[in-house]
Amino acid sequence: MSTDPDCIFCKIAAGRIPSHKVYEDDHVFAFLDINPLSEGHTLIIPKTHAVTLDQLPADSLAACGLAVKKIAPALVKVTQCPDWNLLQNNGKLAGQVVMHVHFHLIPRREGDGLGFRWPAGKLSADRATELKTAIIEKI
Ligand code: AMP
Ligand code: ZN
Repeated sequence: MSTDPDCIFCKIAAGRIPSHKVYEDDHVFAFLDINPLSEGHTLIIPKTHAVTLDQLPADSLAACGLAVKKIAPALVKVTQCPDWNLLQNNGKLAGQVVMHVHFHLIPRREGDGLGFRWPAGKLSADRATELKTAIIEKI
């Protein structure tokens, strides 16, 4: 397992910095966000250090997904929020501040004021063909 001695989330996963832990297994650690967007806002992190999702080993990524499946229903019950967002930022431009992969689990309720910005654009058939061809070649 790779860790970064300067990474705050590596320190939290190792128990060297206190956190409000809600779940832990061999690959995953989950704890309450210190500045929650809503009550119950939880962070799920892999114990191994990686900056972005694509850099994460497959077993850690799978374990994070299973942790979402375990924790989300518990949050729904406890917060009585029927819905939730799963947010995962990769890189500064995408809003990532802590450079250790993490998944935000954010309980949502009617009138919570958090909003949802999704300024959808348009995609022409020609551009779609170009894009999908280029992406398929790189996968
Ligand atoms: P991001 O912008 O996706 O990198 O989100 C980083 C998140 O980590 C923010 O929501 C912070 O509130 C949260 N955070 C940072 N330090 C801590 C900490 N020591 N304990 C709990 N949450 C933290
Ligand atoms: Zn780390």
